[in-house]
Amino acid sequence: MIRAENLSVSYGPQVALQNASASFLPGQFSAIIGPNGAGKSTLLKTVLGLVEASSGRVTVSEDLGSLRHSSAYVPQQQTLDWAFPVTVWDVAMMGRTARLGWLRWPGRRDRETVQRALEQTEVQGLKDRPIQALSGGQRQRVLLARMLAREAEVLLLDEPLTGVDAATQEKIMRLLQEQARAGRTVVMVTHDLEAAARWCDQLLLVNRTVVAQGTPEQVYTPANIECTFSSSHLGHMHTDASHAHA
Ligand code: ADP
Ligand code: MG
Repeated sequence: MIRAENLSVSYGPQVALQNASASFLPGQFSAIIGPNGAGKSTLLKTVLGLVEASSGRVTVSEDLGSLRHSSAYVPQQQTLDWAFPVTVWDVAMMGRTARLGWLRWPGRRDRETVQRALEQTEVQGLKDRPIQALSGGQRQRVLLARMLAREAEVLLLDEPLTGVDAATQEKIMRLLQEQARAGRTVVMVTHDLEAAARWCDQLLLVNRTVVAQGTPEQVYTPANIECTFSSSHLGHMHTDASHAHA
């Protein structure tokens, strides 16, 4: 289990999260939902230890050990450098080398795992293509293949449905749900309320803090949606945050 308690995160004067608490269980498929700039990516990165919290803490149960080793992270596609001259196969294999360290050459099992991951995400036919030549939807599937190749217990994905057609979105959600059913901890950031309600076990509404956490039925109340998506509230939270800091 992963538990984030009262996380506050700032980038210089900009408060990104204030007292955000959440927990994620093995076997559970969770979605983090909220408007642009709400702190969704920051929450994911803080859980991973890529961003430092100014207060609060993240605890991870012993069976998962260090998230650095037991997790696979799929960053927002727009934040990656797609001009890098590597093939689809190379990108998926990075899921293995990240695990092995650079001292070992990939062996047969690594190649088989990568091959299987490319098949699961239906990009095996593209494996020799440079990643530059791919569409947004294809790139997203290659990132998922890299994640699967890692064989991690904790899967954290930032907006994996962006730039993907409806049929592929459905396939991605089904794949992630299967990963959760296999006992993994799966957490994704998304804008897509409808997809999240349909496929996920747990939703977190985020707007500078965690507004609500629970099953779709528990979380989707008009008051929670208003609180999460209304821009006036965003300003309000910001003021609250500065008060708390003072
Ligand atoms: P989301 O993923 O919900 O769109 P983010 O977590 O990326 O939101 O960002 C939350 C807030 O923190 C935003 O106001 C954003 O501009 C700011 N922010 C995010 N990353 C940085 C950064 N590296 N430096 C400065 N401000 C940042
Ligand atoms: Mg983001």
